[in-house]
Amino acid sequence: MSDGLCGDIEAEIADLALRLTEPGGTECMRCYLLRMIAEFGCDGGFRWAVRWRDVHAARPKGLLRRLAERGCCCDCEVLLNVYPDYPPVARPLPCAGIPQRGSVRPCDLRNLARSA
Ligand SMILES: [Zn+2]
Ligand SMILES: [Zn+2]
Repeated sequence: MSDGLCGDIEAEIADLALRLTEPGGTECMRCYLLRMIAEFGCDGGFRWAVRWRDVHAARPKGLLRRLAERGCCCDCEVLLNVYPDYPPVARPLPCAGIPQRGSVRPCDLRNLARSA
């Protein structure tokens, strides 16, 4: 395999990883964190929260501070401490849509959970 081809494949994989971890345009923070942690795990920091914030948050500066104030030191603790009322499902549900742009309020999954 030539170096050129390897380089192409590497670039393609990097591009794919970027698209797989891209927050959806109307995906709320809870569903995004859940999806990412289910797929890729938590790295002990706010890797996914930062990614979501950079795409969605209207007031990006205060987000991590607010999460820390609620006792979170990493992405999975955000799910436990900030969004404890996720319906008991085996797999992450599709996001029902962010209620308000830039808001960290989760979408309303009650209808989806009932029909699933
Ligand atoms: Zn964690
Ligand atoms: Zn959602």
